[in-house]
Amino acid sequence: MRRVYLDHSATTPVDPEVAAIMMTYYTEKYGNPSSVHGFGRETKQALEQARNQVAELIGAASREITFTSGGTEADNLAILGTAEALRKKGKHIITSCIEHHAVLETCEYLEKNGFDLTVIPVDEEGIISVDEVRKAIRPDTILITVMHANNEVGSIQPIAEIGKLAKEHGIVFHVDAVQSLGKIPINVEEMNVDLLTVSGHKIYGPKGVGALYVRKGVRIVPLIHGGGQERKRRSGTENMPGIIGFGKACELAGQRMADDAEKQIKLRDKLMNGIVERIEYVKVNGPVGEKRLPNNVNVSIRYVEGESLLLSLDMLGIAASSGSACTSGSLDPSHVLLGMGLIHEIAHGSLRFSLGRQNTEEDIDYVLEQLPKIVERLRMMSPLYDQVIHSKKA
Ligand SMILES: *Cc1c(COP(=O)(O)O)cnc(C)c1O
Repeated sequence: MRRVYLDHSATTPVDPEVAAIMMTYYTEKYGNPSSVHGFGRETKQALEQARNQVAELIGAASREITFTSGGTEADNLAILGTAEALRKKGKHIITSCIEHHAVLETCEYLEKNGFDLTVIPVDEEGIISVDEVRKAIRPDTILITVMHANNEVGSIQPIAEIGKLAKEHGIVFHVDAVQSLGKIPINVEEMNVDLLTVSGHKIYGPKGVGALYVRKGVRIVPLIHGGGQERKRRSGTENMPGIIGFGKACELAGQRMADDAEKQIKLRDKLMNGIVERIEYVKVNGPVGEKRLPNNVNVSIRYVEGESLLLSLDMLGIAASSGSACTSGSLDPSHVLLGMGLIHEIAHGSLRFSLGRQNTEEDIDYVLEQLPKIVERLRMMSPLYDQVIHSKKA
């Protein structure tokens, strides 16, 4: 059976070049970078090189990069670390309704512990308005945390403008850039970002490693205390193979970004337009064109359940998602689609396809051949669809 992986926003395969270099740090170059001997010095140097590779991809200085166990930890460190550092200054935090759970849940945890939270809405394309952020700012606002690109609908946010606003008001600005890293350019200077989250496994690096960019002069309180690694921001012996792999993945992403984007935009539009042409009662979710990530397709297919679609696709070897991977264990519709104004019923029949480097035209052809048949079969079993057909005939 053909197998087509279209869930790269959940995770990506590790690039063979990345896997190869990681292997050396398991079996040959295993020194602890804190050790003074040659084994340690060798890995310490590699650690700093990886830090450089990450920094370069986002326009930062390498000393501003703190390695973590992933995007989730970096989001927690940014938000909890800022709240703790600035709690005497103020208690108000601003975020948006389409954030990843790693941000939303962390903000809600703070809200339960005495902080005030304002959650900014989005428009029907899933984009935050800068004006809404401006209106939400209070004298006691200490943090604005907003994602760069959304993981479900691929909407790209006006980060530079929000950054400018945050800077004018002296508010710390955190951006979750896990989905945009390596797909569209990021520059922490141009975007006026103070804290920026990135993760390895969404860019053909390993799982369990990520980083937080912390602008020089911005203070955060660490979550993990111990040996004082990572300039005391994140104690614990460094995950060397992971960090080396993440660094390499960043280097490759920088080299391939333009090519990857060009190729994936073509496939994305072929898939999106193909679905709309072949299936009735379909709605495209998220923006079209420039404001959308090169690799994201999200559609609501009426009169079918997203979960049933996923299972049917899976039986044909096609891997997609019905929302974020974290929520797909539950049947709650996506908070992002609801935030964009979709009613429950429509949000339920939604599918996300996220493209990657290895996808081909043939992959898309296969999906476009199979999906309409699946939808037709499922709709035949839907009493609601039956009513629609009959009311049309009448
Ligand atoms: C995947 C993801 C995360 C979590 O990163 P992990 O490395 O899996 O912990 C955070 N934010 C966004 C937008 C993501 O897509």
